[in-house]
Amino acid sequence: MLDAGAHLSLNPADFPSPPAAIARVVRLASDPDVTSDRLGACVASDPVFTAELLRTVNSPFYGLKQPVTAAARAVTLLGIRALRNLAICFAVRDSVRNSGLRGPDLEIFWEDCLRRAVAARAIARVTGKVSPEEAFTIGLLQDFGVLALVRSNRSPAGQWSEWRLQLPEARRQTELTLFGMTHDGISKLLGDRWSLPAALVDALANHHCPEKCGLASRELAYVAFHADNIAALLACKTAAALAAVRAGLKEAYKLEERAIDTLLDALPGEIEAAAAGLGMRVSKQAPFANILAEANRTLVQMNMSYEEITNRLEAALMEKEMLMEELAGANAELARLAFFDPLTGLCNRRHYDKVFRELLTRAAATGKPLSLVMVDVDKFKLVNDNYGHPAGDAVLRSTAAAILGSSHDADLKARLGGEELAVVLPDTDAHQALAAAERLREAIARASVTTAKGPVRVTASFGVATFMGSGQAVDVERLVAVLTDVSDKALYESKQNGRNRVTVGGLVR
Ligand code: GH3
Ligand code: MG
Ligand code: MG
Repeated sequence: MLDAGAHLSLNPADFPSPPAAIARVVRLASDPDVTSDRLGACVASDPVFTAELLRTVNSPFYGLKQPVTAAARAVTLLGIRALRNLAICFAVRDSVRNSGLRGPDLEIFWEDCLRRAVAARAIARVTGKVSPEEAFTIGLLQDFGVLALVRSNRSPAGQWSEWRLQLPEARRQTELTLFGMTHDGISKLLGDRWSLPAALVDALANHHCPEKCGLASRELAYVAFHADNIAALLACKTAAALAAVRAGLKEAYKLEERAIDTLLDALPGEIEAAAAGLGMRVSKQAPFANILAEANRTLVQMNMSYEEITNRLEAALMEKEMLMEELAGANAELARLAFFDPLTGLCNRRHYDKVFRELLTRAAATGKPLSLVMVDVDKFKLVNDNYGHPAGDAVLRSTAAAILGSSHDADLKARLGGEELAVVLPDTDAHQALAAAERLREAIARASVTTAKGPVRVTASFGVATFMGSGQAVDVERLVAVLTDVSDKALYESKQNGRNRVTVGGLVR
């Protein structure tokens, strides 16, 4: 059992301070005006840090052909941000070494830090949301405040090896009970003492509640949050921890279970490699398969029988499936409403505007022709006047059906408004478009709608405009305007010349 300790306030002396030389590098590297030269000089003034830096840059990880021997050159090669991250990582490592933690505690604390760092870097690599280096740094730093808590109050600190096995939020609550404060709550203090950049401090302060983080560092805070879950899983190996990792990564990044397992599977080896890279030891990391097996074992130990779990799971899956079906239906309906005109089933104006431009862009790129056929029902007002509005609607539907029945699948058939329709024919020159329009005209004239007052027939007038394809980039907006104008004028001519006819308006380039 854990004892509730006295709520001590934090003595600044309890707070691990970074080696002065490294703090200087971090501060300077956070200055937006710093140059590589100045930073190089600052690094070079500290022989220990220089040696570390050169060792890292010359390690196989960077894969350089020529060995780097000068600090200034290493700074140029790494870049300022990467150097800052490296300096912070060195500082964390040195502070952990000098923390007063001894033996197994030291090794375990370092192991937890490193697991968060490597997990955060892996999430960053898979999701591409933040820089992997930045992710590694925050992973290493995020629970660093625990060191200060442990130093401030020795008595509950002795039980730290127990509460480190709790899941992240429970662990934080335990800190609150034992110390009256939490490791994330002292991030500001850490930031000031270590001269950390503000965005990093913000992410550190909010890594247990990333939604509260400022926009600039929210993704980083989320990565730290999920890395925390992963480190907890590696430490406690329970089914609950595994579920938290999987659900979290799936929801936040839409990662499939396979992708999550691949990520987790690679971690043990990467953790050992990272420890070696930073010159610290960690114990041999259990393979992911062992962690899975252990998590399954804890599941069986829980009070639920296997059958009970299966039943619950099946019920949940069934409910999920039903919801998914409903959702799919609703989505299909939404898509239909978004793209199609409810009366005729033809594309609506908005969808026509979009697809017309796409077809034109393709025609321009491939050099193939494209024709626009504008259609307007003749004397449609008379249908409404003589037979009533519902009969007018029925005529519009039958006109649309005639168009759908006598055009190609690749053609874009749309209702632009009222009784004005349009058909866009890709890969179709003026000659072919004339034939197609004639086919549509005949189909419309043939169709008949039955009404209370007897059958109704209508005709329609047509205007054709053709774009001759160009094989190069064109001004699509201009083409849309010109093609529409030419086909409108041709349609007007059809009306003037007696209706129920096709007029070819001309070629557009
Ligand atoms: P024109 O041959 O010159 O095109 O003559 P028109 O009567 O077809 O043209 P006009 O533009 O004067 O009339 C179009 C009519 O279409 C007027 C409008 O009430 C009717 N209309 C528009 N949308 C609908 C609809 O959704 N349903 C019905 N029933 N009528 C509609
Ligand atoms: Mg009309
Ligand atoms: Mg009209």
